[in-house]
Amino acid sequence: MKFPFAEDTLGQKLEAGTGLSVYCLTCKSTAVLDLAEMVKRFGRDQPCMHWDLIKIIYCHECRAAGRDDRNLQFTNHALAPEKRRRDG
Ligand SMILES: [Zn+2]
Repeated sequence: MKFPFAEDTLGQKLEAGTGLSVYCLTCKSTAVLDLAEMVKRFGRDQPCMHWDLIKIIYCHECRAAGRDDRNLQFTNHALAPEKRRRDG
């Protein structure tokens, strides 16, 4: 039995065209993560489960303001249409 989201590394997510956004529970802001950029920074094999992401992602606004910057919630998107750059 497979889950719909079987992509558990950044490289797999990028290939699948899956989008990922992060919601900051502290300042209530949402940001869409740039997977291509994250793959460049952290590598294709970087795991992207919640507990992995929470180690590498933080809320810039809250960090700058000295608030809890890791009070985050990650959301998978089936597809990110404008980010879909498959060959073709
Ligand atoms: Zn924040």
